[in-house]
Formats: sequence, structure tokens, C-alpha cells
Amino acid sequence: MAKVKVAVNGYGTIGKRVADAVTLQPDMVLVGIGKTRPSFEARRAAERGYPIFIAGNGSKADFDAAGLATAGPVDAMIASADVVVDCAPEKVGRENAKKYLAAGVRAIFQGGEKADIAEMSFNALANFDRARDRKTVRVVSCNTTGLARAASVIVPHWGVTAWEATIVRRAADPAESNRGPINGIVPTFELPSHHGPDVRTIFPDLRIATTAVVVPTTLMHVHVNHVILTRPPADAGAVIARFRQTARFHLFAPWEHVDGTPQVMEYARDRPNGRPDMMENVLWDAGVRVDGSDLYFFQAIHQESIVVPENIDAIRAMFGLAESGAASIATTDRALSIPTP
Ligand code: NAD
Repeated sequence: MAKVKVAVNGYGTIGKRVADAVTLQPDMVLVGIGKTRPSFEARRAAERGYPIFIAGNGSKADFDAAGLATAGPVDAMIASADVVVDCAPEKVGRENAKKYLAAGVRAIFQGGEKADIAEMSFNALANFDRARDRKTVRVVSCNTTGLARAASVIVPHWGVTAWEATIVRRAADPAESNRGPINGIVPTFELPSHHGPDVRTIFPDLRIATTAVVVPTTLMHVHVNHVILTRPPADAGAVIARFRQTARFHLFAPWEHVDGTPQVMEYARDRPNGRPDMMENVLWDAGVRVDGSDLYFFQAIHQESIVVPENIDAIRAMFGLAESGAASIATTDRALSIPTP
């Protein structure tokens, strides 16, 4: 079968990771990336041999002045692709969507766009099969991806009567110098926060309520979860074992002395998988507790990378490249060096 031709429009935090991930897949080929202006990231794209197409209100003259070769306007890239993964900033994807529609090309959008931008919201563990043959799919945000993955484990095994999650959010991504970590703890005055309804775009019947606070760090989000289970297991051991057996979960044992996100990201830097990313939900054995029907657990979410494998699986689902979600996840994770359970 011919490889699926993938274009990535928007080459920032998420886009550059998705582009790299596409090049590692056995059944996909990267036809180019859309970039608005020259930058260190555009330079790296050129060094990697990715055709650079001029996106947004970018100008060829700017790229020429920087000595970066371009392959044409973004419309040419869109025309040459089977699917565009839109990784432009929040709300810009909605503008770009008009181009994809006009070109009759399939498209994947990110979680910064509202759910109605696409036919469905996607998470590989939760609803891979629903994305089959779709023209447009939205990969939910980093926090929603983390919660949806956890729900994929908890809902079928123990049922959920109610779920409350507090999302402790990083203030900025590490490369952002225009909004640094703030000196304080800032509540999000959206009660409950939008993350709960976003999880319900994937689990429509899940009774989940979320709140959020922003804290001065760039190293991951942390979710503080309290779930009332319908059919609780005898102890936390069963929950830990189930998470450990599931793809895209990484659990730290107490002897590893991982106190928090600084050691998680140091562990990611130590792993020999190219980028110092942590694409799995990160849990701690010591951070899972069952008390009667109450389940408590912490999980950390690497905002910059958790959605990357999900974008790859979304492509595979849309083009029927895998017989099941599990098969796609296995292929993706092998290609991205994500350890399999
Ligand atoms: P980013 O700002 O790091 O990157 C976006 C890139 O798109 C930039 O390089 C920008 O120059 C470029 N761009 C601007 N206008 C464009 C246009 N018209 N066409 C093409 N490219 C254009 O943003 P990001 O963090 O990578 O976020 C991208 C999407 O992913 C958003 O929807 C965001 O909500 C979502 N997301 C972000 C994170 C995160 O933590 N960074 C996590 C999950 C999902």
C-alpha cells in the first residue's frame, strides 16, 4: 500500500514534533511543513530536509533573506497531501480549515480548536475506530488526552460514578519567552473548567468535573484526581497493575525517587529516544490510593508531546492503515521508541 502523504501546517511546539514523528512511521511520508517566517525551527526543518512551504502571511523574501529555500506557497503543500495536520496556534486552525475544505483534503486539528471544527474528537485508546474514514478529526488537548487515556482504563474496569480532577497547569512552555512562569498561583475562574466538557466529547456519559490553577513551572501539568468508582477493586494494587499493563502509561516505583516533574523530565532527557519528551501519562505507584469506592491518583502530563502519538494514530485510523487501535498504537510507539508494557 502506498504511504499516506502527510503535510504539517504550523511548525511550532506541536508541529515540529508531529513532523518528526511522521518521518519515523513505516506507512507515512512527510510532504512538507507550513511555516510563516524564518526562525531557528525553520532552520532545523531545512537541516532535516523537510520542504518548507510559506504559510499564513509569510513572505518568500524573508525566507530568501535568511538563506532558507522554500518549496512554494502553503496551498501547493495542501494540494500535494492526503492529509494536513494543522498545528497552527489556537483559533488559526479554523481559518486554515477553509483552505483544506476548498482543496478537498482531509485534516486533523489540535485541541486549541473548538470541538465543532471536526467530525469527531479523538483519543487512540478511547475511540480509534470512530475515526475510520473520517475527513476531519480533532486530537484533543494535552490535558484532555491525559484524562481520556485514564478514563479508557478506569471506565471499563471499575465504572465511574463521579470524577473530580484539579489540573495544576504549567504557566508556559519552556521555549516561550513572551509569557514566563508567573510568580504566584493563579486560579482559573472558569468553574468548572472546560476540560470536563472536553473529555465528554470522547466519553459523553462520563460524570467528570474539572478545575484548574496555573503555577510557576514549565515542567508538565499535574492532575489531582478523585474518582468515585461504581465497582471498586479491593485495593490500589489492581489499579496500578492495570495502568502498568496499558500502553502510554508510565509508572514510577517508590525506589526510583521521582519526587515530582523535575525528575520525570530528567528521566525523559536520559531516555535514548531522540527528543527528551514524555509522551505517556506519568503516574506514581505511591500516588494511587483506593479507599472503599474512592480512587485517588496523581498523573503528570508532558504538554509538549503527549498529543504527538495521538496525531499519528488519528492518521492511521482515517486511512484504515491499522486493523485496530491497539495495532496502530503498537506501530506508533515502536517507531517513537515509547516503551511498550
Ligand atoms: P506554537 O505557537 O508553538 O506553534 C504554532 C506555529 O504555527 C508557530 O510556529 C506559528 O508561527 C505558526 N503559525 C501561525 N499562523 C499560522 C498559519 N496561518 N498557518 C500555519 N502556521 C501558522 O503553538 P503550539 O503550542 O504548537 O500549539 C498548536 C496547537 O496545538 C494549538 O491548537 C494548541 O492549543 C495545541 N496544543 C498545544 C499544546 C502545548 O502545550 N503547547 C499541547 C497540546 C495541544
